[in-house]
Amino acid sequence: MAHWAFACRSTGTSCEWALEADSPEVILQRFAEHEKCAHQVPELSDDLRRRVGAAIRAV
Ligand SMILES: [Zn+2]
Repeated sequence: MAHWAFACRSTGTSCEWALEADSPEVILQRFAEHEKCAHQVPELSDDLRRRVGAAIRAV
């Protein structure tokens, strides 16, 4: 099964948070929760979603 990785700092922050998951959808979901808790961003903007999509990489 493919494995995917994402780091918060790839969206332009200096945040050290990162995760790996089995699908990009899970990463987007977990990142949305992280944005809410850690960055006070209640909802991902279209622009942010695009940047996350571009930054998720297969490992
Ligand atoms: Zn972060």
